[in-house]
Amino acid sequence: MRLSNKVALITGAGSGIGREAALLFAKEGAQIVVCDLNESAGKETVSQIATQNGEAVFVRADVSKAADTKAMIEAAEAAYGKLNVLFNNAGIFHPADGSVLETEEDVWDLTMNVNLKGVFLGCKYGIPALLRAGGGSIINTASFVAMVGAATSQSAYTASKGGVLSLTREIAVEFARQNIRVNALCPGPVETPLLAELMSDPARRQRRLVHIPPGRLAQAQEIANAALFLASDESSFVNGSTFLVDGGITAAYVTAE
Ligand code: NAD
Repeated sequence: MRLSNKVALITGAGSGIGREAALLFAKEGAQIVVCDLNESAGKETVSQIATQNGEAVFVRADVSKAADTKAMIEAAEAAYGKLNVLFNNAGIFHPADGSVLETEEDVWDLTMNVNLKGVFLGCKYGIPALLRAGGGSIINTASFVAMVGAATSQSAYTASKGGVLSLTREIAVEFARQNIRVNALCPGPVETPLLAELMSDPARRQRRLVHIPPGRLAQAQEIANAALFLASDESSFVNGSTFLVDGGITAAYVTAE
């Protein structure tokens, strides 16, 4: 029960890493506010939590919209009286996101709005709630791509995640003396719907697998485990970190055969 008596809000909790984290945080005793753009997916997470005797509510929110993010934080406090953990996890990877020469402005704008502005808005409206609760933990999802370049470009996605890293550091330093910790979770490639289209092509999959030291993608649960550590008081002196859970990709030059 590493999160007993805590209320955790998770965005993008209708799928992938967010859903796994919601199930895990609930098992560890937290009351969960499941937020997603996709109502049926979010409600499915809530019912999965109920089947394991956990407690959760669903709030539909588009994290790129200020009114929605403000309302999701208000809904958390209305449902459970406080907010202790904010996991800004929602993100998109647009199929038309490519080289800087090819990526269209609308793809850039949408990606920035969800992946970066969504984190900004989550923090903007979430921090006052954490302060009211006496402090708390914020986990902002960036990615290993914020640390290394790739010739298989995804310009908007990569730039958005770089922004999440910088924003996270700034907030972590500003609010540390008010008992708020903020860390950037940086997963390597994970087997989730986000990468399904890309990884279903054997050639594109292999082009990437060769650079991953363990020779496989992560499972969503392996990322949720790291999020749990950052959410819990076990990480009480971890703040402003670039928390890599990437199988060693960013440490590698030549991988084993
Ligand atoms: P996913 O596609 O499985 O789930 C993302 C969820 O976010 C979906 O339920 C979707 O409906 C929701 N969502 C999308 N736009 C939203 C919006 N505007 N408002 C609210 N919810 C929205 O993705 P995932 O792989 O679980 O990714 C979760 C996070 O991890 C993302 O930020 C992603 O960039 C990051 N990440 C993923 C990988 C990977 O390889 N899968 C690697 C590094 C980082």
